Amino acid sequence: MLLSRFPRLRFAHLPTPLEPMPNLSRLLGGPALYIKRDDCTGLATGGNKTRKLEFLMADALAKGADTILTQGALQSNHARQTVAAATRLGLACELLFEKRVKGPDDDYLRSGNVFLDRLYGARTREYPADTDMNKALEEVAEEVRKKGGKPYVVPGGGSNPVGALGYVNCAIELVTQANDMGLRIDRVVHATGSAGTQAGLVTGLEAIRSGIPVLGIGVRAPRAKQEENVYRLCQATAEFLGVKGAVARETVVANSDYVGGGYGVPTEGMIEAVKLTARHEAILLDPVYSGKAMAGLIDLVRKGEFKGSETVVFLHTGGSVGLFAYLRAFERALN
Ligand SMILES: *Cc1c(COP(=O)(O)O)cnc(C)c1O
Repeated sequence: MLLSRFPRLRFAHLPTPLEPMPNLSRLLGGPALYIKRDDCTGLATGGNKTRKLEFLMADALAKGADTILTQGALQSNHARQTVAAATRLGLACELLFEKRVKGPDDDYLRSGNVFLDRLYGARTREYPADTDMNKALEEVAEEVRKKGGKPYVVPGGGSNPVGALGYVNCAIELVTQANDMGLRIDRVVHATGSAGTQAGLVTGLEAIRSGIPVLGIGVRAPRAKQEENVYRLCQATAEFLGVKGAVARETVVANSDYVGGGYGVPTEGMIEAVKLTARHEAILLDPVYSGKAMAGLIDLVRKGEFKGSETVVFLHTGGSVGLFAYLRAFERALN
């Protein structure tokens, strides 16, 4: 698989480290836990969207765009990394925010990603929950065109076949690291939302026949819908890559048991996972994605899902600046 056939810019700090988590492994008494540090991709405090944006922004430049548009929740990590990438390239950026989380407090409305977006000087617009955000993106794109600009629409989460190439790249990187380290990986676990991360990872790992199964921990949609979204994007990504049919339906596995009250709504498990990972590994997770994914991993280890002889890699997808938007949720847990 020759990824260099596709236009790509280089702004992520790669390869990201693949490191053991000895303290958490010992504490939980299950498999050997490793962590793939995609929170350290470097752009605007990092995260998984940066890998996708290397391909998406190259596509935008190839198409002559001067304005990047994208959408997400108010505390979107994707929006923050997108405006940072646009800034680096000297492009204008419009962020469309869906007020998806109910009853936000002042920290949620002003701190974390929201603060950084403002620092980058992003142009922002807000929409009520359940707005058709793809339609809203098209409307703003039309506005930009009418003013003589050249818009490029990045879908929510950067999740289309172009963006998913970033995680095909991660699959190749991870397998190369494991080979170099002599590490046998039995499972990869990570947070799955708009599906591009899991779709790219699974497509890459399957196309190179790594034999490594992936478990996505859902943060929003129920399992059947999440798996369907990921599988559809796997098929499109495989076709785009020229490896049509590389991904079998059964290799797409999501578990949505850790969503709790909904997208962005804190859970006890998330609070515990963020706290344990901070206090035992000094690693910062986030409240919306990686915290819930780690809550899932911890619960599955406790339930005996993995053998003690196995090695599980947690893919850290970033987002820790989102912690500052959730101070209140942690208050009680820190006493
Ligand atoms: C966007 C995001 C995810 C989910 O990745 P998808 O490709 O949207 O499924 C996970 N973790 C963090 C921190 C994110 O910002």
